Amino acid sequence: MSVLVVAEHLRGELRPVTLELVTSARELEGPVALAVIAQDPAALADAIDVEGVDEILAVQVEQAEFEDDVYQQAVEQLIQERKPDVVLLGFTVNSMGFAPALAAKLGLGFASDVFAIEQAQGGLVVQRAFYGSKGHAEIEFPDHEGVILLLRPTAWAPAEGAGAAVEKQVSVSVSGSRARHQDFVEVATGDVDITSADFLLSIGRGVGDKENVSQFEELADKMGATLSVSRPLVDQGWIPNSRQVGQSGKTVKPKVYLALGISGAVQHLAGMKTSGTIIAVNTDPEAAIFNVAHYGAVADLFEVAEELEKLY
Ligand SMILES: Cc1cc2nc3c(=O)[nH]c(=O)nc-3n(C[C@H](O)[C@H](O)[C@H](O)COP(=O)(O)OP(=O)(O)OC[C@H]3O[C@@H](n4cnc5c(N)ncnc54)[C@H](O)[C@@H]3O)c2cc1C
Repeated sequence: MSVLVVAEHLRGELRPVTLELVTSARELEGPVALAVIAQDPAALADAIDVEGVDEILAVQVEQAEFEDDVYQQAVEQLIQERKPDVVLLGFTVNSMGFAPALAAKLGLGFASDVFAIEQAQGGLVVQRAFYGSKGHAEIEFPDHEGVILLLRPTAWAPAEGAGAAVEKQVSVSVSGSRARHQDFVEVATGDVDITSADFLLSIGRGVGDKENVSQFEELADKMGATLSVSRPLVDQGWIPNSRQVGQSGKTVKPKVYLALGISGAVQHLAGMKTSGTIIAVNTDPEAAIFNVAHYGAVADLFEVAEELEKLY
């Protein structure tokens, strides 16, 4: 099955989801072409030349940053020329800005928030989540007429290994200018990127009070962890939303996720359930977080924190 993967990048850096798309593409066992739509595609060439990519399509455009109308036109032309069976993009704000419209325009199949793909009877069966992962749907694309899939970040491991892709320059014509990127606004200084942390100490409403948050910030520091939170702490204004894990926060996949006083609502689990090792502490033995935890303690989080303090 031929696959076209569309790379995602920001400020000159490849976004991690791109290599996850390559892993998924490789599983489809057909030729894999990876399109890089950028002002300077060559600058990203090393980062994307990983094992399993057969062709790198360097699509040079004027715009330095993502623009939905530019991507829509460029990807449309690539699809028209190459007629891939499957087009893979990240389930990200960027892709959602143009891919559904493109699928509708070209009459292609479409699914977003896809977390599993299987080949069956000459076509594809994909699984996707909806209503904040409260439900899962299995969608069949029985023929080969082309389908655009937006894959959930972190659902596949990133592709590794040196590649030997053939690079091709592809020119596309892009017209119009609906909106153009002006500038980046930096998030508050001192903030961290919880999506790249290996160890998250995550606190929930169980901490009870704003005054208690600093204790866990200090504990996280001591343990070499990064502090993250469930949504109520952000809603109460106790901590910035850049630290929120979940459906309306960040999707994380640390090696270790230590959840203290988090019940495990479906919207929270959507952002962390693929973490390497999940350890949950909760006074309620029925808390849903224990359904995804590898290790759990039915215990008071303050007592556990006190014991951890002694260890570090
Ligand atoms: C559209 C939508 C989007 C949402 N997006 C998100 C999201 O991105 N992220 C998110 O987190 N939520 C999100 N939510 C909210 C979500 O539904 C839950 O309300 C939220 O996750 C609950 O947070 P919590 O587990 O910290 O609090 P609670 O559900 O109140 O759980 C607190 C837990 O702490 C335990 N506890 C209390 N005291 C102690 C103690 N001393 N020691 C140990 N355990 C203790 C309790 O037993 C309980 O299980 C969203 C909701 C909606 C509707």
